[in-house]
Amino acid sequence: MKKLEDYVVSIPDFPEEGIIFRDVTSILEDAKALHMAIDQLQEKIEDIDFDIVIGPESRGFIFGMPVAYNLNKAFVPVRKKGKLPCETASMTYELEYGVAEIEIHKRSIKPGDRVVIVDDLMATGGTIEAIIKLIEGLGGTVVKCVFLMELMGLNGRQKLEGYEVESIIQYP
Ligand code: 5GP
Repeated sequence: MKKLEDYVVSIPDFPEEGIIFRDVTSILEDAKALHMAIDQLQEKIEDIDFDIVIGPESRGFIFGMPVAYNLNKAFVPVRKKGKLPCETASMTYELEYGVAEIEIHKRSIKPGDRVVIVDDLMATGGTIEAIIKLIEGLGGTVVKCVFLMELMGLNGRQKLEGYEVESIIQYP
């Protein structure tokens, strides 16, 4: 039987030379693989006590929302700068390639909220670190971070010491 990792297509030199991009559209376009991805992400958090799934733009929306829906939790998007219409908290951080600024609606996280972050991939951990700062800045608690894929060689976990982190597929 095909495993989830068998569906991921690796693209050399995208979006820049030297980067191997792990493409998840190949998971989405296969009904069985899509089910596997959502089910396996869900299994990692279904026994945890939490209130909200956070998904970073844009692949975090794709994988986070179905998990939130299935587990009867709220879903809160973290978006690129300038997209959210109401009052936001924002954070600038470094990517594996480039710099980014992300935002969240302030009203979406209330003090005491317990939050799980779901994204497709952790590389340097910069995105997830910035999101954790946003959530904690608003009084929320990050109870777990789950990823479909993790690039182990970039040591993202070093930025996340003290947090519970799990991934389904690990690349060296
Ligand atoms: P980090 O902040 O951990 O360096 O980068 C993670 C973010 O960049 C994630 O939101 C992820 O969607 C995106 N990303 C970086 N590299 C890749 C990749 O090879 N494949 C995919 N699908 N996303 C990537």
